[in-house]
Amino acid sequence: MALKKKRLAIYPGTFDPVTNGHLDILHRASILFDEVIIGVVENPTKKTLFDAAHRVNLINKSLINCHFKCPVRVESFEGLLVRFAKKNKAYALVRGLRAVSDFDYEFQMALMNRHQAPDIETVYLMPDEKYVYLSSSMIKAVARHKGNLGSFLPKPVINALFKKFPDLK
Ligand code: ADP
Repeated sequence: MALKKKRLAIYPGTFDPVTNGHLDILHRASILFDEVIIGVVENPTKKTLFDAAHRVNLINKSLINCHFKCPVRVESFEGLLVRFAKKNKAYALVRGLRAVSDFDYEFQMALMNRHQAPDIETVYLMPDEKYVYLSSSMIKAVARHKGNLGSFLPKPVINALFKKFPDLK
């Protein structure tokens, strides 16, 4: 009898910083796959608020009280996503789709990734409505201007933003 192949998914992104929207997608992915690796993009040319090691650390801390349906781990990677995916024998890539504004970029990226690795499918998941307009860049803009971050972020991320922006309420 053939052994069932483990369905491992990579959920790649910048996660600068991780939000409850990202975690929502992760919960959904953990129902569909046997294992999920959160792939934190290490891109030296892209300016981020938190460096890659800090982003990985914030995700790990944010996962502590989460209960997923499959094992989830966090790794950073540099270079081509499909190379990282192949190295990990990934079955699929997971991305979140919010508003229509995500579509064009995501479509281009999915087709380019398929071109490089035809046997790795990209799967798009929609978050709960309350996260549809949530993005890490919006969070950073609100934090810089000392706005209220409400319930959009895991506690460790709120604490890290308090350190970066001491006047935050
Ligand atoms: P990237 O720079 O690769 O877009 P992000 O960290 O912004 O990195 O996003 C990583 C993935 O998570 C993307 O697929 C993005 O669409 C998705 N995502 C980000 N925020 C949300 C959210 N609020 N709800 C659902 N998906 C999200």
